[in-house]
Parts: sequence; structure tokens; C-alpha cells
Amino acid sequence: MPEQHIVAIANQKGGVGKTTTAVNLGTALAQAGHSTILVDLDPQGNASTGLGISGDQRDYTIYDLLTGEVDLQTAALETDIRNLRVVPSTSDLASADVQLSQALDRTRLLERQLSSAPAGTIILIDCPPALGLLTVNAMVAATSVLVPLQAEFYALEGLSQLLATVKQVRQGANPRLRINGILLTMSDYRNNLSQQVEADARETLGDLVYPTVIPRNVRVSEAPSHAQPVLIYDPSSKGSVAYRQFAAEFTARLNLQPENA
Ligand code: ADP
Ligand code: MG
Repeated sequence: MPEQHIVAIANQKGGVGKTTTAVNLGTALAQAGHSTILVDLDPQGNASTGLGISGDQRDYTIYDLLTGEVDLQTAALETDIRNLRVVPSTSDLASADVQLSQALDRTRLLERQLSSAPAGTIILIDCPPALGLLTVNAMVAATSVLVPLQAEFYALEGLSQLLATVKQVRQGANPRLRINGILLTMSDYRNNLSQQVEADARETLGDLVYPTVIPRNVRVSEAPSHAQPVLIYDPSSKGSVAYRQFAAEFTARLNLQPENA
């Protein structure tokens, strides 16, 4: 049986590239023939919107999945991209934190639902910018955590708290949890600071840091307003080239065989 891959894309800071990475990694995996489900676990629903899922398509959402109202097969909507489905989110999820915190098994709600995923399906979880109950649910359900790190001055500051949370989850609810890697995002090659952050990150974190660095690229920031991943919106942009290269490193790290080779 193929190994299960459930990757939580997490960083408690907002605006570091979690959603952009989730959407484009998901697209690249799907384009390579891997059946992929992106779980949008952020009440802002940016991953859902970024994949072209309009508000009125969101009959069932991640909230219904967490409460057990629907199963994964029902909650995962087709996108315009073959092999890529998304469990959408809406702002309802913002109040869910409070309601779900009453549940007895409140950290295992997502894990329970994702266990029904068909073997071989890759699941990516786009986490909200906090280390609260939702992100903990993602880490309990996940096999590994991918951390996007914005190449800016305070980038490494929040990381120890994030890694401490991963460790807690590993020592408690989910012993199989690993760090998949750190992805440097929004790097500006003209800026010495970006290069300094990259050098610091590689020195401190070693091989955990992916070789590919995602550059700051205006096409990446335009794509969401066209409800498309940049890989579709402008496949030859610098951002797309970098995300494709990263996706290849990601699949190699997961030991995934190409599905459509
Ligand atoms: P998060 O999910 O961590 O909050 P996002 O992925 O939503 O972060 O990115 C924050 C903002 O930065 C968004 O407006 C996004 O379009 C933009 N952005 C992300 N990556 C890049 C990039 N490589 N180049 C330019 N803009 C980017
Ligand atoms: Mg986001």
C-alpha cells in the first residue's frame, strides 16, 4: 500500500506564503498526475478562492467536515485542475474554534475525517495564521509539516515556537509527525537582507531548508485576483518556474514516483 502523505503547511505568521504555496504545490502535484486534495483550514478561505471556488459553490465546507456532518468524499470539490480537489472554507470556520473546543476529541476531528482518504491521495492542509486548535488539528492529522518562511528580518523569530508545537504534538497525539522542510518565500535577490536571512536559515536549519527559494514575483501576487494559481495564470513566470522546481524537490523528499511519466 502506498505510504500516506498528509502535509500541514503551517506558520503562525500571516502573509508568509502558506496559501500561495498550498495552491501552487497542489497544482504542480496534480499536474504531475498525483491525486491531490487541498484542505482549506483558514477561515479567510483564500486557498478556495485562489482555486476558483466561488462562495455559492461552498455548500459543504471544512466546518461540516470537522463536525462530522459530511465525509471527505462529499466535502472535496473538483477544481478546474485535473486531479486537484479542495475542501473549501468560509468565515463560518472563525466561530468554529470556539464551538469545536467543546468537543471531547477536539484535536482529532480532522484526523478522523482524513483517515478515509483513498490510498495514494496526497493531502495538503493550508493552516490559518495561528497555533490554535485548527492548526493543532492539522498537525495531529498530518504526517509532516511544511513551513513557508518569508525571507525577511524577523522570519526566524517565530520558528522556535512553531517547532515546539510540532514537538508537543509528536510527543502526544501524533508520534509519526515529522518536519517536511522549510521553504523560503518572497525572496528579493536585489535585497541583501533576503540573502542574509537565507544564509542564516541554512546555517541554523541545514538540509531542512529546501534548495529552491521562491522569489518575490508580481505575477504570483496577481494570480489570486484571477482566481488561479500562478502556475495556470502565467506558467512561465519566475514564480511558476520556482514553484515547479520546489514541487519536484518536494516529491523527491516524499519519495513519490511520477504518476504520468
Ligand atoms: P499566508 O497564507 O501565509 O497568509 P499568502 O500566501 O496569502 O500568505 O501570501 C500573502 C500575500 O503575499 C498574498 O497577497 C500573496 O499573493 C502574496 N505573495 C505570496 N507569495 C508571493 C511571491 N512569491 N511574490 C509576490 N507576492 C507573493
Ligand atoms: Mg493563508
